[in-house]
Amino acid sequence: MPPRSCALCNKARAILKRPKTGQQICRECFFWVFETEVHNTITEAALFKPGDKVAIGASGGKDSTVLAYVMKTLNDRYNYGLELFLLSIDEGITGYRDDSLETVKRNQQQYDMPLKILSYDELYGWTMDAIVSQIGKKNNCTFCGVFRRQALDRGASALHVDHIVTGHNADDIAETVLMNIMRGDIARLGRCTLICTQGEDTIKRSKPFKYAYEKEIVMYAYFKKLDYFSTECIYSPDAYRGHARAFLKDLEAARPSAIIDIIHSGEAFEVTEVIKATQKVQQTCKRCGYMSSNYLCKACTLLEGLERGGASPSVVGLLVTTASELPFNGLSLQTNRMQGKLDAVLISADNMRTIPLFQTPSTLRPPMSTFKEQLSSSTQSQVIIDPIHLSTLA
Ligand SMILES: [Zn+2]
Ligand SMILES: [Zn+2]
Repeated sequence: MPPRSCALCNKARAILKRPKTGQQICRECFFWVFETEVHNTITEAALFKPGDKVAIGASGGKDSTVLAYVMKTLNDRYNYGLELFLLSIDEGITGYRDDSLETVKRNQQQYDMPLKILSYDELYGWTMDAIVSQIGKKNNCTFCGVFRRQALDRGASALHVDHIVTGHNADDIAETVLMNIMRGDIARLGRCTLICTQGEDTIKRSKPFKYAYEKEIVMYAYFKKLDYFSTECIYSPDAYRGHARAFLKDLEAARPSAIIDIIHSGEAFEVTEVIKATQKVQQTCKRCGYMSSNYLCKACTLLEGLERGGASPSVVGLLVTTASELPFNGLSLQTNRMQGKLDAVLISADNMRTIPLFQTPSTLRPPMSTFKEQLSSSTQSQVIIDPIHLSTLA
């Protein structure tokens, strides 16, 4: 039997079967359809405008490495006119993040993009290694998730970028849809399929790989011989997501379109006004200025628990519960009560560490002298990170 020719160009020999469609195609056609689908996702959602400064959340893993490569390729090919940056967060996980950051540093050279690395240690005064040694491996993903999200925003703010793109792929989004359904978190279900999110006065955040299959991202990285880091985090994985992931893989094996179908289902849900009304009004954290639906933002709340060190397991549990993503149901009432108790404790605590002030690009940064005055006039024993340090990192 002669070698099968590519289903798209009909010329070259087909060397791979596309996971998303089952088509047998050649390498060049695979690159082309993968890139073009991402380009279509970007243009249909009008994600960018010329002159935008865009930070690529770069972990050194396959998704963000392919994202950086494809963003650069498309920016050149279609003249998006974007100024691209790599933004990495160093969670302080020895043997995992230190190695993956070496990959990002090589990507910086390979893709010729400015790189900014921001660490949990400099922002929060805690590495994940230190957090795990204090709280153990249960719940540590909660800390890491909250801290990473804020760290990306703070890094973007320091870089004065308008937009952060992340490597979340179709599998990730389909898993999140399933998790929100299983938890009954309808309000979050309405948001999790959005390609671009932007809260009140915050930096835009979007997912150009929303419709890209994980298997195709791996294939793309493999055939392009991209340099990425492929070890799982050494701390406990998100167990609940693990179940959703295993279930999704089973569905995909039976019918590959299941991933896209689940995303489309998620998109088609309409969130009623009753559920929308249960969402809390956004305000700003009274301690660090980050957006928050409570007196303190989630990072400051978690940090408070860590700084108290001797906090009983129940207090830490309370902090973790209120900071984790709780669904719309009876629990939220309970959570509000717990948060009320917490706020009462937290309001009195003003000797706590202050995370460097969050600023959006639209907010004018006060002159450094103002910061210095604020720092020197502070009589409390606060551990304040010098904001100058933040801006010089850019
Ligand atoms: Zn072809
Ligand atoms: Zn805060």
